Amino acid sequence: MNANQSPSFDNHEHVATIDDAASGLRAIIAVHNTKLGPAVGGCRMFPYANEEQALEDVLRLSRGMTYKSALAGLPMGGGKAVIIGDPATQKSPALFHKMGEFIESLNGMYVTAEDSGTCVDDLRQIATETKHVLGVNDAQEFGGDPSPLTAYGIFCGIQSAVRYQLKRDSLNGTTVAVQGAGSVGRYLIKLLREAGAECLACDINPQNVARAEELGATIVGVNDIISADVDVFAPCAMGAILNDDSIPQLKATIVAGGANNQLAKGYHAQMLRDQGVLYAPDFVINAGGIIEIYRQYKDLPMEQCRSKIEGIGDTLTSIFEQSDSDNMTTADVAEKIAERRFKPNAKVNNAA
Ligand code: NAD
Repeated sequence: MNANQSPSFDNHEHVATIDDAASGLRAIIAVHNTKLGPAVGGCRMFPYANEEQALEDVLRLSRGMTYKSALAGLPMGGGKAVIIGDPATQKSPALFHKMGEFIESLNGMYVTAEDSGTCVDDLRQIATETKHVLGVNDAQEFGGDPSPLTAYGIFCGIQSAVRYQLKRDSLNGTTVAVQGAGSVGRYLIKLLREAGAECLACDINPQNVARAEELGATIVGVNDIISADVDVFAPCAMGAILNDDSIPQLKATIVAGGANNQLAKGYHAQMLRDQGVLYAPDFVINAGGIIEIYRQYKDLPMEQCRSKIEGIGDTLTSIFEQSDSDNMTTADVAEKIAERRFKPNAKVNNAA
């Protein structure tokens, strides 16, 4: 496995791997860019079919974190870790202790947090071996889990997209299809319902379907969510959901949701634009969690965090405006803004 041969390599600063028979840990840490600060990004656990698949995922996610933090105006770089394994059956204290040692060996270049497949208890095990862990403070609201604040940022982003595209100042009566009612999707449904929006939701996990229903969402089949006749499609499950097959099926004129890497390929941003769909770039709209992680990192007041998250709405509005005035996709506009902040010749202002 050679990371720099990968199509997703994109000038990563560092990629480290471990295969430790004693603990069963097989993992990769990818550090994309540290121009603005240490590379911060979650630790995902997933039963990847092979190392190549895990490498592609970690490289794409780590690059995404650089763009996300830069666009959110945070003095942090981008990185990510993946553990190859089934979170339902392959977790053990030994595995997470070894992961902690692995993170520690990078001397603070990479700082970890929770992600799909890992939880606060797992991070606590990691934290016995390294201090480069965020989201393990019991005093934190939600025990350090950033998902509720990720959902809050998406909610603010949906408000801004609805105002821009549909000329509505309120979400009352707006219809939103939420794909995936996990940690983020669930909180999003709650906020949308409180604001008077109608929610459709789906999930492959029956427990999460039941929870979405309790929150007042109307449940639809997993194969019907993309073509649902709604104003907003909010992907909150997996990546690459916007692709050659799904985009022509969309009836929504807004795509605004929390999943990372929603576009299967770069050209799908143009496909959405050609179809008249306003796309809120994922790494802009789902930055609430990393803003909260930064707050924990610097022990900042929650007020400051919330107002920064609310700023996601304004950032998106200016991206939408520039996309129309320059006839560019929203994804291209957002990437260019981020690159001006973290590329080698960028002027760094770390006063976040
Ligand atoms: P999660 O694992 O808690 O929830 C994902 C949900 O999607 C699960 O309930 C799962 O059953 C469901 N799902 C999976 N495949 C599905 C399918 N084909 N159709 C319908 N539902 C399906 O994860 P999460 O923390 O809620 O994150 C959701 C997405 O948001 C992920 O892409 C994640 O990378 C991204 N994200 C999360 C955060 C955060 O703070 N948790 C921050 C930024 C981005």
